[in-house]
Amino acid sequence: MTLIADPQSRPTGAPYDPTYDPLTHATPGTDRNYAPTYWVATAGPPPEDDGPVTGDMDTDVVIVGSGFTGLSCALSLARDHGIKAMVLEANRVAWGCSTRNGGQGQTASGRLSRSQWIARYGRETALKLHAEIMEGFDYFTDLVREFDPDPQPGGHIYVAHRPRTYEKLAAESALANEVFGYRTRMIGADALKRDWLDEAGAVGALHEPLGIGIHPAKFAFGYLRAARAAGAKVYPSSPVLEIERDGAAFRVRTPHGTVRARAVAIATGGYTSQDLHPRLRSRIMPILSNSLVTRPLTPEEIAASFRTTTFVTDTRTLRFYYRRLPDDRVQIGSRSAITGADATHPRHLQLLIDGLHAKFPVLEGIRVDYSWWGWVDVSHDMMPRVVQPEPDEPLFYSLGYGGNGVSFSAQAGRRLAGLVAGRKPVGLPIYEGALPGHPFAPFRRIGQRMLYRWYHHRDEAA
Ligand SMILES: Cc1cc2nc3c(=O)[nH]c(=O)nc-3n(C[C@H](O)[C@H](O)[C@H](O)COP(=O)(O)OP(=O)(O)OC[C@H]3O[C@@H](n4cnc5c(N)ncnc54)[C@H](O)[C@@H]3O)c2cc1C
Repeated sequence: MTLIADPQSRPTGAPYDPTYDPLTHATPGTDRNYAPTYWVATAGPPPEDDGPVTGDMDTDVVIVGSGFTGLSCALSLARDHGIKAMVLEANRVAWGCSTRNGGQGQTASGRLSRSQWIARYGRETALKLHAEIMEGFDYFTDLVREFDPDPQPGGHIYVAHRPRTYEKLAAESALANEVFGYRTRMIGADALKRDWLDEAGAVGALHEPLGIGIHPAKFAFGYLRAARAAGAKVYPSSPVLEIERDGAAFRVRTPHGTVRARAVAIATGGYTSQDLHPRLRSRIMPILSNSLVTRPLTPEEIAASFRTTTFVTDTRTLRFYYRRLPDDRVQIGSRSAITGADATHPRHLQLLIDGLHAKFPVLEGIRVDYSWWGWVDVSHDMMPRVVQPEPDEPLFYSLGYGGNGVSFSAQAGRRLAGLVAGRKPVGLPIYEGALPGHPFAPFRRIGQRMLYRWYHHRDEAA
C-alpha cells in the first residue's frame, strides 16, 4: 500500500494530529495541518483567509467553527441579513468533517428514515420536515452550481446487502412515493449488476432521484471565497478557549485576543469539545468514520465493478458509503475506532479494505493512495438541532447531523443565520428546544463498543 503525501502541507504551523479526540482534548489544537485526504491534496491552494486573531476586537456575531455549517451561516448572514460575522476556526479553514467526508450530498437530516420521522413526529410534521429538506436540497444545488465542486449528480443508490433489508427498502420506497410524493424506485439484482454496480452479494437497491456527489474541499473553499466576498471575516488558527457572558453580550477568548460579540453561533460539529460551552456538554456523541481512496480504476475494472458514478450506501447499520470519483478512483468509508488514541491502529483501515474487496473481488489488492478519518456529530436522538436553546441568551448552535450533513449543512447554516438575525424559528422539531443529553454520558463509549459488536453481528447475519 502506498499512501501519497499531502501536497497542501504548509512548512509552518502544527502537524496534523491523527489521535485527536473531542471527548478528551480541550480544543482541536491550533493551526494544525489538514488531515491527509484526497480532497485536500486535489483541491488546489486554499483561498485567502483573514489570518489568526492577534488582538482584542468587537463584533456583532461570532461563529465558532469554519466547516460547511459555519461558512454557510456566515454567507447567509452577509447575503440575506447584511450582517458581517467573524468566523473563528481552531486550525485551517474547514479542517474538520467538511474536508474529510464522502461528499455524498443527499436528502437527509440526521440519521432517521422517513418512516421513522412518521413514527416519532406524526405524518403531518414528517411531511413538513420533508418539504424543509427538499427546500434545503434546492439551496445546496444552487451552491453546487455556484462553487462547481466537481459535481456528480445522479441521485443515491442504497444497496440491500441482505434479502430482509431489500424488503425494508421496498417499504421505504413505497412510503416515499405514496406519502411524500418523492419518486424513488427499486432496482432488482440483475438490473443493478447490468446498469449500475457489480457488487457481490447485492440483493437489489433503492434509487433516490436526488443526490449530488461533490468534492468537499472544493465546496468548502467555494464557501470561504463567497462568504469573504460578501463581507464575512474568517480567522483560522484561532481556537475558542472560552465563551463567557459579558452583560448582554459575550466575550469569546482565543489565545491571542478576546472578541466581544452580541451573539455567538456554534458550528463545531463532531469536533465540539466537552469544555466549549456548558450547554453542549455531553450533547453530541462524536463517532469516528474512516475513509480511503484507491488508485484510478482501469476500464476493465470499471466494467466489472462501478459502472455508475452515482454514490452508494449499503443497508448495514455500520454502513459503507462509496462511489467512483471523476478521475475513476474509488472512495469508500465506514465506521472506525471508538477513541482517537486507537484511530491509527491498522485494523481500522483493514476493515475498509476488506469491505471493498468483499464487495468488488475484482479490486482485490488494489493500491490505496489516501486514508484518513474524522469525527461525525451524532445526537442522542439521531436528529439535529438548529436552535437558540435559551430564549433570553443570544447563543445559537447547529449540530447533530449524524454523518448526513454535506447538503443539510447548507440549509442548517442558513436557518442558523436566520435565528441569529432575529427571525422566528421554522415550526419543526429540529428547530426547537435543545439537543438531548445522555443519562450515562461518562459511559457512552462502553455502550458504543457493545453496540458495535451487536450491530456487526446483526448486519452480517443471513
Ligand atoms: C469521514 C466522514 C465522512 C462523512 N461523509 C459524509 C457524506 O458522505 N455525506 C454527508 O452528508 N455527510 C458526511 N459526513 C458529515 C459531514 O462531513 C458534516 O456533517 C458536514 O461537513 C458539516 O460539518 P460542520 O460544518 O457541521 O462541522 P465540521 O466540518 O466538522 O467543522 C467544525 C469545525 O469547528 C472547528 N472547531 C471545533 N472546536 C473549535 C474551537 N474551540 N474553536 C474554534 N474552532 C473549533 C473544527 O476545527 C472544525 O473545523 C461525513 C463525516 C466524516 C467525518
